[in-house]
Amino acid sequence: MSEVGFIGLGIMGGPMAANLVAAGHRVTGYNRSRGKVDRLVEQGGVAAGDVAEAVRGAEVIITMLPDSPDVEQIVLGEDGVLAHAPEGALLIDCSTIRPDVSRRVAEEGAARGIRVLDAPVSGGEPKAIDGTLSIMVGGAEEDFARAGAVLDAVGATVVHVGPAGAGQTVKAANQLVVAGNIGLLAEALVFLEAHGVDAEAGLRVLGGGLAGSAVLGAKEAKMRGREFAPGFRLELHHKDMGIVQSAARDAGLSIPLGSLVAQLVAASVARGEGGLDHSALYNRIAELNGKG
Ligand code: NAD
Repeated sequence: MSEVGFIGLGIMGGPMAANLVAAGHRVTGYNRSRGKVDRLVEQGGVAAGDVAEAVRGAEVIITMLPDSPDVEQIVLGEDGVLAHAPEGALLIDCSTIRPDVSRRVAEEGAARGIRVLDAPVSGGEPKAIDGTLSIMVGGAEEDFARAGAVLDAVGATVVHVGPAGAGQTVKAANQLVVAGNIGLLAEALVFLEAHGVDAEAGLRVLGGGLAGSAVLGAKEAKMRGREFAPGFRLELHHKDMGIVQSAARDAGLSIPLGSLVAQLVAASVARGEGGLDHSALYNRIAELNGKG
């Protein structure tokens, strides 16, 4: 069992930290808003008042922050993880960020004797709570092996996909597929409702056939009920579609369907819906059809 420092106790990080406590790790947590730290303490964790306190004495440090600038500040910043972590510690960044930032974090970590893995996750809040996330890990093979006991406590499908940054590249592909699926699920729902078909029955039978997907299973009830509490916020998916589009451009690729859905996600954020679950992409499809 390890001494774990955990930074970023939000929708995903909160339950992940709780699962690490339940697995027997000693988890010291830090979050910008104190209420989330108090919740971890109720669950058996230890409170930290800042980054330095969270990482002092840690063998493993996990960060679960919103975006690239947050990771740059918390990890690379003056009073950040690299400035305070003990030499030899393993930093596992589970945030979804730009692959180039992950590579820089790994390089700067190595220069200070800190090993680094990028380990973005998929599965959303339900799988974070169940401890059954999919985790795509970039970094050195020996560091992946060392991370096993910790990542197995929060994930069910934990795969080493390549060197530093590769986890983020795989996660970008994941977000492309998820966004496209959500867009088509929204179109199918508008389509069924326009024809007066029982949408619950229709989507239930689709779910048992080739049209079935994890997205359909997780999101159809939210869409049918127009209940869009997050979950995964549209503003985070907007960030991820930016990562996808710039990585596609770097590789000289055309991703027409991804680009279209990225525009619909952007429109949702521009219309003030960035704080809603990404299933609220339904609202854009409904509006296009005069049903908004
Ligand atoms: P969130 O906003 O709920 O959690 C982020 C947490 O980090 C918050 O509690 C916030 O207070 C804290 N934080 C932000 N900046 C900080 C700082 N400077 N210092 C200390 N704490 C700080 O977001 P989330 O939904 O948990 O997502 C986290 C990451 O996981 C994102 O990169 C997201 O893209 C990714 N992700 C989310 C989901 C999901 O379904 N929510 C699924 C897979 C991946």
